[in-house]
Amino acid sequence: MPLADYPELQALSAHEKQEFIDELRSTLRPRRSFIFGVDLDGVVMDFYGGLRPIAATWLGRPVEELTERFTYGLKEWGLLDRAEGYDLSYEALHRHAINQHELFLSGTPIEGAAYQLRRLSRLGVHIRIITHRLYVGGLHEVTVMQTAQWLEKHDIPYIDLCFVKDKTSINADLYIDDSPTNIKAFAAAHRPCIVFENSTNRDLKADLRARNWEEVYTLVKQQMSRAGNGPAVS
Ligand SMILES: [Mg+2]
Repeated sequence: MPLADYPELQALSAHEKQEFIDELRSTLRPRRSFIFGVDLDGVVMDFYGGLRPIAATWLGRPVEELTERFTYGLKEWGLLDRAEGYDLSYEALHRHAINQHELFLSGTPIEGAAYQLRRLSRLGVHIRIITHRLYVGGLHEVTVMQTAQWLEKHDIPYIDLCFVKDKTSINADLYIDDSPTNIKAFAAAHRPCIVFENSTNRDLKADLRARNWEEVYTLVKQQMSRAGNGPAVS
């Protein structure tokens, strides 16, 4: 189209023309998908539920003796700090669970997680898995392999798979996590995060909280609409 056909455009200053072009460009750009940053352990996979019977056998104790109300490091199960040079360290148990029991492949999904993630994917949600699983040296290859195989095995949709310690370094419109440390880090960085409730995070203040994956689905849908990424399919 010749510019001469639009005298009103010719009358614009160079700055106004640039603003007009920028505005046109922004309307042409396809709308970005809503990114949901999803933690795995304790949210999508029942990591400690899978680890508990393995730990009981490893420690030579009845499984009922290992309390389900534990803290990070599992001292309540009788594990000791590696810094003290003990064999019964969390790291030694973790290594055993991954190498001998393929825990990241054999673990049970949290009820409803795979199904609701498939529903969210159908709504157009960009699912970005964000997990801090590479915290034990020498297990990186097997951890990444088992994780990818487990996600396939349970038909869990995702676009990105991020292994990272500082989860706030990975961008998302909304996160979900159960770890108090990560939940506090997201809050400090002003990133919205759904707290997936368990005994370790029940007392934390949170605007978004879910006790099951049906509630997660509803919250994600609400946050999407609020961000202007209304679902194409309900
Ligand atoms: Mg977790």
